[in-house]
Amino acid sequence: MAAKFWALLLVLGLSLAQPTSAHRKLLVFLLDGFRSDYISDEVLESLSGFKDIVSRGVKVDYLTPDFPSLSYPNYYTLMTGRHCEVHQMTGNYMWDPSTNKSFDIGVNRDSLMSLWWNGSEPLWVTLTKAKRKVYMYYWPGCEVEILGVRPTYCLEYKNVPTDINFANAVSDALDSFKSGRADLAAIYHERIDVEGHHYGPSSPQRKDALQAVDTVLKYMTKWIQERELQDDLNVMIFSDHGMTDIFWMDKVIELNKYINMNDLLQVKDRGPVVSLWPVPGKHSEIYNTLRTVGHMTVYEKEAIPSRFYYKKGKFVSPLTLVADEGWFIAENREMLPFWMNSTGKREGWQHGWHGYDNELMDMRGIFLAFGPDFKSNFRAAPIRSVDVYNIMCNVAGITPLPNNGSWSRVMCMLKNQDSSAPSVQLHSWTLVLILLFLFA
Ligand SMILES: [Zn+2]
Repeated sequence: MAAKFWALLLVLGLSLAQPTSAHRKLLVFLLDGFRSDYISDEVLESLSGFKDIVSRGVKVDYLTPDFPSLSYPNYYTLMTGRHCEVHQMTGNYMWDPSTNKSFDIGVNRDSLMSLWWNGSEPLWVTLTKAKRKVYMYYWPGCEVEILGVRPTYCLEYKNVPTDINFANAVSDALDSFKSGRADLAAIYHERIDVEGHHYGPSSPQRKDALQAVDTVLKYMTKWIQERELQDDLNVMIFSDHGMTDIFWMDKVIELNKYINMNDLLQVKDRGPVVSLWPVPGKHSEIYNTLRTVGHMTVYEKEAIPSRFYYKKGKFVSPLTLVADEGWFIAENREMLPFWMNSTGKREGWQHGWHGYDNELMDMRGIFLAFGPDFKSNFRAAPIRSVDVYNIMCNVAGITPLPNNGSWSRVMCMLKNQDSSAPSVQLHSWTLVLILLFLFA
């Protein structure tokens, strides 16, 4: 009998020491440029898909993005739980002086270099390494080999995915869950951001893009029921940042009016945050000149506010310019990022932008979740983009890597709040063994 007792203890001990993969499936949406007030209580009344999700799940008041409130930095913050200066994806445009390589918003070949991506391990890589099946649709970076790993499936982003592309991705992801091909699916959608840039955050075009997403989400709820996935699937919907109105008519800061652009080795990005690398010997002159320019702040690297969690990034330039909200920094007016409108020429004016101080209201994004692990009809306090990673890890049942997120800000959303770490459950074979020992 004593031998049986010790064997039982051993089996129990082994099973507890080994976290199991007992978890539900997870579907995540990254809706680019979705500002928190696009789904205010008032607006929700006209969005039946979102309204239904809010009543069945969790909605936070808003999500504060990381600085800079730009896409790539926040894509990586969301998927690593780390601030930009930790994961190293500090801009949509970056330059590495030691190799003279550039990251240009994912579109140039050098953007695929591991140099930019290996600064931290995103969730999809951790899951893939743990033999989970990860399906990614248009998700920026899913085509990149990161730390030697690619996801199970990546439908590569080529152009702005259409509403039909989006609906097909949702349907395909649900089919993949049903057939057992996927454990996690991640879908990226951009149109709300694109219309917000082109026509402004309050434009009918931006509202139309939101309405289209709402329609797809309504179908999604129906498709989940039809596939009988409702008890086995959690869904999270979040954005990378918000959007604010810009005014090219009168709120443009033209750098060449103040400094000689030949005194710069490199300039990256335009808009709210611009990175400058002065030629040797010109740093102080440029810094002192730009300090006198209104509606923006010039920072030497060490003087960037610590609350941005940005200055320690290895690709951060010696001088960083940050515009006041609504202002746009460019080399000159000809270098403004016009878009190709219906004329077929690059002459469309942009009316919305983001990237500004991440604490500004207009930079705030969204976070919604529903499914068997989440409370229903629950309104949560604001969270930050670093917090999303821990909640994804928890419901996916995987141990999070060290990160900057706060568990206390997100645990309130879960039905079972005790489970700070992935649940450790008994394997079925363990139970069989215990029964054998007990009744043999
Ligand atoms: Zn974005």
